[in-house]
Amino acid sequence: MKPSRLIQGGTVVTPTAMYKADVLIQGEQIQAIGTDLAPHPSAEVVDATGLLVLPGVIDAHAHIVLDTGIYKTPDDWLTESRAASFGGVTTVVDFATQFPGQSLEEAVAARLEETRPSTIDYGLHVMITDLPPGQEDALGVLPELGTTSIKLYTTYRPNYYADDATLLRLMEAAGRYGLVTLVHCENDAIVTAATEALVTAGKTSLRYHGAARPMLAEEEAAARVLLLAEAVQAPVVIAHNSSPRTSAMVAAAREQGQLAFSETTPQYLILDASLYEGSEPWRYILQPPLRAPEARKGLWELVVAGQIDMLITDHCDYTQAQKLEHDDFRKTPGGLPGLETLLPLIATYGVAAGHIDWMDLVRMLAENPAQIYGMWPRKGALLPGSDADLVLYDPAGEDTINAEKLHTLAGYTPYEGLRVQGRVVATLRRGEFLVREGEFLAEAGSGQFLHRQPMEFES
Ligand SMILES: [Zn+2]
Repeated sequence: MKPSRLIQGGTVVTPTAMYKADVLIQGEQIQAIGTDLAPHPSAEVVDATGLLVLPGVIDAHAHIVLDTGIYKTPDDWLTESRAASFGGVTTVVDFATQFPGQSLEEAVAARLEETRPSTIDYGLHVMITDLPPGQEDALGVLPELGTTSIKLYTTYRPNYYADDATLLRLMEAAGRYGLVTLVHCENDAIVTAATEALVTAGKTSLRYHGAARPMLAEEEAAARVLLLAEAVQAPVVIAHNSSPRTSAMVAAAREQGQLAFSETTPQYLILDASLYEGSEPWRYILQPPLRAPEARKGLWELVVAGQIDMLITDHCDYTQAQKLEHDDFRKTPGGLPGLETLLPLIATYGVAAGHIDWMDLVRMLAENPAQIYGMWPRKGALLPGSDADLVLYDPAGEDTINAEKLHTLAGYTPYEGLRVQGRVVATLRRGEFLVREGEFLAEAGSGQFLHRQPMEFES
């Protein structure tokens, strides 16, 4: 008999309803949700009175153990999945990088060696860096591998950059195989020119990081990628929108029938470019950079209007030492830690602030990423038969974000000192407690690779 648990007396939150109900878990799955459930006498009863019962958070864009070929984060899949568990994240979609000369099978296999210690479930986007013309059909192996999305970049020479012709032919092939293409959009020439102008003026300290990567660079690249994707009828996700105009373009494209989706992050919703003028710009080095307060407000308006599909972290666990090594934005690795703070930040600056409700939160943090990336309804849903990935969240009480209390290796957080409303009381993944009342209970290696489904759409 598999262990069963009854989560009793909580408020269940789905994208369309919030209601008092018990959740009966049998083994790894949800068996039933209701008020008159009769569990097996041996079932463990978990009192969830006063707590919200949310689906486990899916972070559909994270970089655990990131090796760009230039920089490497010193974390591992146990430390980061542990941090994620404390933050209510039960699934990530991370990346397998195709290094030059590697086949896609080799890239995925190599990544699956690194992910082994994970305590949370994970899927992989495949970063394509080396598929010359004529070799596009190599993408056909990805549905068999369960890695049904690819990642491309419009910037970062020489390791990741894809020119327009490359974007077009790889998105076309990806679409044929039901793969979603996630694109990092920044116009490379605009970023290069802005950077060179700053260098000429002797302005290379970290406070100029934002100026080196103008918002127009993102907007132009996003517009172009949307146009290219439309031309070849390829499903596309425009990565980490820092500009509301980017998200609005994606929403408009979808209204016209295009399979286009957007994502943004807590950093663009909560932080802004004034922080580069302060005494600690090193905390905020990421690409795209933080924007003006008006952009932050504009992004919230689109979140409120339901026009942003996913909230993700773009988590990168570079350490404080790596960030402080050079006061030069050209040499400092970009990317911020965020797995553990995603849910509390959106709960606070989204829900408690009155911008969105809990149902919106679970739509953007669970249902949408599961549906867009071929994991629904196994993941991202509180339904009978779904994996029993749950977060018990206490919406009462306040805390302050402090790096010393967090569990990543980074040793810092861009949200240091920010107030958060409520806390994660427990995280369950496939019926097992990962975290309960601040205690980490998961077994290393208990996370599973998710074999995701290709997207079904009419071509
Ligand atoms: Zn990223």
